[in-house]
Amino acid sequence: MTERKRFWIIKCPRCQTYQIADSRNKSKTCSQCSLRFEILHLPVLASSKDAREARTIVADLKMPRTAASEPKVI
Ligand SMILES: [Zn+2]
Repeated sequence: MTERKRFWIIKCPRCQTYQIADSRNKSKTCSQCSLRFEILHLPVLASSKDAREARTIVADLKMPRTAASEPKVI
C-alpha cells in the first residue's frame, strides 16, 4: 500500500468553489452552496498531508492567473 495524502483539494460540482476534503470521508458538503457530493467521483486537484498545507494550496489555486493557455471552466 502506498501512502496517500490525507487532505484532497477538490471543486464543488455545482458552484466550483475549492473545498478541502478529508480523504477518509466518502462525501462532503459544500461550504458555499451546501450541496452534498461524493468525493470519489471528483478529480483531485491536489493533496496534502495536513489541513494547513491544504489551505495554502487552495489560496494558491484561487490566485487569479492571466495565462491564456489556462483551460476555461464553464
Ligand atoms: Zn458548492
